[in-house]
Amino acid sequence: MLVISYNLRGQIKTPLEMSGYSKLTSNMEMLEYLKSISQKCRFIKLDTLAVSPGGRVVPYLIISKFAGKLSDKKIKALLFAQQHGNEHSGKEGLLMLIREFVEGRLDYLLNDVELILVPQMNPDGNDKDQRRNGNEADLNRNHLILTEPETIGLHKLFNKIMPEATLDLHEYTPYSKEWRDYGYIKNYDEQIGTLTNPNIDSRIISLQKDKALPYLRSYLAKKGFTSAEYSVGGPPDKSRLRNSTFDVNDGRQSLGILNTFSFIVEGKNGKTSIENIKHRAEGQFNAALGFLDYVATNKNKIKSLIKKSRISLITNAINETSLQMEHVPEGKQTVSLFSIKSNKDTLLEISNYDTGTEILKKEKSPKGYIISKTETNLLELIKKHDIKYITYKPDKNNVLCRYRITDSAKKNIEDLDINVPVISKSVITLDNNENYVFIPIAQLRSKLLMLMFEPASMAGILQYEKYAFMLKKDSYYPIIRVE
Ligand SMILES: [Zn+2]
Repeated sequence: MLVISYNLRGQIKTPLEMSGYSKLTSNMEMLEYLKSISQKCRFIKLDTLAVSPGGRVVPYLIISKFAGKLSDKKIKALLFAQQHGNEHSGKEGLLMLIREFVEGRLDYLLNDVELILVPQMNPDGNDKDQRRNGNEADLNRNHLILTEPETIGLHKLFNKIMPEATLDLHEYTPYSKEWRDYGYIKNYDEQIGTLTNPNIDSRIISLQKDKALPYLRSYLAKKGFTSAEYSVGGPPDKSRLRNSTFDVNDGRQSLGILNTFSFIVEGKNGKTSIENIKHRAEGQFNAALGFLDYVATNKNKIKSLIKKSRISLITNAINETSLQMEHVPEGKQTVSLFSIKSNKDTLLEISNYDTGTEILKKEKSPKGYIISKTETNLLELIKKHDIKYITYKPDKNNVLCRYRITDSAKKNIEDLDINVPVISKSVITLDNNENYVFIPIAQLRSKLLMLMFEPASMAGILQYEKYAFMLKKDSYYPIIRVE
């Protein structure tokens, strides 16, 4: 049993602080810490999100004025950390954040915000200090196919609560050989990423880029932490930089595609998992607090925008979905990088930082999709995403279109080999209709559905080994469009 320890100011210490920042918090130590401190606070409810493949508990906490219960009056914010087990600072930072609530220093936030916190998504990876979970799966590429207990648990919780705002905490490693050879490396305590899929309501993305991002950056600066907008790729002499991917399989964008005010932050990792951990954990703590501060201060604006934009999904107001996109240049960008030679942060003009988006292919929405009840794989998937469906009833106004895979071609989009099969389309009738389900497009997951199921989608199930059987030449695609 863990004995709660206090520092000189009488504050509860997290397990990391108790060790004098010499030992990262194990799953068991975290569970004991959360159990003992949550009993001291009437605002906290502690529960289980999932059990990992290795048999470890993934806990979550609800923090609200109503004894850990949620209401509709406030804005709901979900924060989750350490999907990648070797990225420890998000977990350590959230454990500090929880302590601040227990000791009453953040009570003011609870007037506006209700929190759902998952400090450690990947306990197997944590205890082995590895990226992947106990099934060797990368959890942050698993949010579309949802095969892992940790991601299934997160989406179940999200779908039940429907938070308006979310933050996914990660770390990045700037020390690769390619970057060191380039002579400059990234040197920000925090990288902050907004949503990037063009099917997400542009008003949400504008609010993120124009208001929340600068707010969070200046918040961090005041607390003594450097930051930049999140970018991937590079070094610029080898490959382009860009603001993330268009995929909807990660923690940020899989929630964003439901029109959620969703962010990612990546703290700078150490050269080892423990190096500089105090500063790293405090950086993540402050990024989380800055995010909560922005959400609380702008509660009404965000809530009403999310409500409006989710209604537009439910009514399928935007009747087409972008399925293939590419990042494109918008002119030279100025980027701050750390010069290894001069030992200083330096402003560089970079010509291949692709900040723009070009849509390569769009598709009109169908009325919905039809799937045979024998396609248990696909039915399980739509249930996990809380996608609504009913038994199909024939309607003479419906035209049913079926795809046939005529060739399984690859296409290079965003420097990736994307499965984009060659298809032909034909009109069909179904005889035994009892055996089919109808998935209406007019629902919250309308954009997700099209991105998931359209064979031309660069982000769909066809990109995964599990569904590669659907690419078989001369076979019928099992998802039928209702026009
Ligand atoms: Zn990560």
